[in-house]
Amino acid sequence: MPPIKKYLFTPGPTEVPPDVLLEMARPIIHHRTPEFSAELDRVRERLKPLFGTKQEVLVLSASGTGAMEAAVCNLLAPGDEAIFVNGGKFGERWGKLLSAHAMAAREVKVEWGRALDPAQIEAAISRYPRARAVFVQASETSTTAIHPVEELGEITRGRDLLLVVDGITSVGVYEQRMDDWAVDALVSGSQKALMLPPGLGLIALSERAWERARALKTPRYYFDLTRELKAQRDEHTTAYTPAVGLVRGLNKSLELIHNETLPTVFARHRMMAEAVHDGARALGLKLFAVESPAPGVTGILAPEGTDAAKVVRLMRDDLGVGVQAGQDHMRTKLIRIGHMGYVAPFDMLVALSALELALRRHGYEFSAGAAVGAVQRRLASSA
Ligand SMILES: *Cc1c(COP(=O)(O)O)cnc(C)c1O
Repeated sequence: MPPIKKYLFTPGPTEVPPDVLLEMARPIIHHRTPEFSAELDRVRERLKPLFGTKQEVLVLSASGTGAMEAAVCNLLAPGDEAIFVNGGKFGERWGKLLSAHAMAAREVKVEWGRALDPAQIEAAISRYPRARAVFVQASETSTTAIHPVEELGEITRGRDLLLVVDGITSVGVYEQRMDDWAVDALVSGSQKALMLPPGLGLIALSERAWERARALKTPRYYFDLTRELKAQRDEHTTAYTPAVGLVRGLNKSLELIHNETLPTVFARHRMMAEAVHDGARALGLKLFAVESPAPGVTGILAPEGTDAAKVVRLMRDDLGVGVQAGQDHMRTKLIRIGHMGYVAPFDMLVALSALELALRRHGYEFSAGAAVGAVQRRLASSA
């Protein structure tokens, strides 16, 4: 019998609040109407504080990767050189996108689980002086580490070098200050901290990135951001038929986020991360991203001799608690617990309790309740 109640603690997709589900269940409206325009305008205004920008945030009907691709093909031309940070699966994706568009992708490799050292970017710039942009993840979901975006902005802001940031698991998770940090493009998606099903990509560009986009004459159509800006800012609609239900759902989820207030949302994410860290340590387990763990997802290294993928499968299929294993060479070694979006600190008791049961069934020995107790102590100390 599959569990009657299921929990989704994966680092995307994440659980969707009932209010948002109800909003999306309402009858469809036409997108060329004042009603939809009002929804879209409100969504785009409500997104700005999450991005930390006064610039326009555009809503695209695509998964997050679509917004990543929009950044690539609106800011660079085939043949252009660009530096990308490859510290995990999503960093690797920047490289693939650049190559797919016939750009010269110059890799800065970061060991999985580590954070980028900004000196690596300084070195890459000296080595590739013709590079026109730097592509990076704020939070590399695959390894659960975060990269120092603010410090990268210090390096790129004085140069003719755009800083393009994948904020898919940082926007709405912890503070993003796109304008202050001199980020030129910030990308996000709907199914992580924004508490929605997959299907929306989001992107904001800086002034100088818009200049670059306007000057570019290379082919693009669906992801032509200059066309999309004109539609969304000036005509209060999207260039093509939008994912209407998701846009309305986003309005509701942003209302929930702003009612909770951003500082409280960010503190909640931090505290859930700390609770999971405490729980892991209480089991004698190590975090994968030691130097700079992400606030939205925690990677725990499975005990020696225990297959992380099997632990994750048992948690999901037998216990109804969805978490995710690592990717590629980390598939059998890493257990990733997502704690972003519609997740509350008490949920971490469920996640760690399930982890304990699954580890025990796989023969790992520890004092029962150790992780749950650690989480509870963390909750008590922050209450
Ligand atoms: C989930 C995720 C993506 C991928 O987005 P899709 O919606 O699957 O296209 C990209 N980057 C990061 C950091 C992510 O966490």
